[in-house]
Amino acid sequence: MTDNTTLLYFAGELTDLLTCPHDKGTVVYLVDRATSIKDVIEALGVPHTEVYDIRMNGTGHDFSLQLIPGTQITFLPANQSSNYPVDVTQATLLRPPLNALRFLVDENVAGLAPLLRALGFDTAYHRTWDDAYIAVLAAKEERVVLSRDRALLKRSAIVYGRLIRSQIVDDQLVEVLSHFSTPMILKPFSRCLRCNVVTTPVNKEDIVHLLEPKTRLHFNMFRRCSACKRIYWRGSHHEKLIERFERLGINIPLHSTEP
Ligand SMILES: [Zn+2]
Repeated sequence: MTDNTTLLYFAGELTDLLTCPHDKGTVVYLVDRATSIKDVIEALGVPHTEVYDIRMNGTGHDFSLQLIPGTQITFLPANQSSNYPVDVTQATLLRPPLNALRFLVDENVAGLAPLLRALGFDTAYHRTWDDAYIAVLAAKEERVVLSRDRALLKRSAIVYGRLIRSQIVDDQLVEVLSHFSTPMILKPFSRCLRCNVVTTPVNKEDIVHLLEPKTRLHFNMFRRCSACKRIYWRGSHHEKLIERFERLGINIPLHSTEP
């Protein structure tokens, strides 16, 4: 190490994100100008959303830390930090707390939207939203951005996010539920899978004319989305989703599965 360099160590799953030469996660970084630590790590390939602890000389620091030649800085991913699974309602040195866990899903992981909504999570998504709009909406509505796009997660307006590693939607769901501290899933099947709107119970007689004969015969409890008017009941689609969640180890409280 020469006088003008600092050693940056990216631990655990952060190592795989490095796009620069490194030795098992350690980068020798030339300090040639004053730069924020956020800009430094992102130039090396690591979105700031993936870093949960910045340690120098045994002390935690925030993203305003300035690089000093001759020092060593360690960056920890969520699963090696003290806040794991990540509880977004808890303040840390790196991030202010959010009021609740709410998601914003990027187009490249769009399959997560209906699954998270089915589990009751407030999940914003629209296929026409571009990166700039997603960043603005995430900041405005305090949402956690889920994406496979590193460039999106490097945007400063995005405070909480997860660079989704898996390419298979069921694995992506498990990844999200493992990564974030999720409140007990108490309200599954309470949101419209298309609109994210909370559905409300509706009397059968008010919608009976809209039902197929078999549905009319076999089901008595229904919910409806006030936005798109879609009607939900515990039919085969509902049962298949419950089976799918159970295969993934996600337990749905039985009392809450009635529409
Ligand atoms: Zn709807």
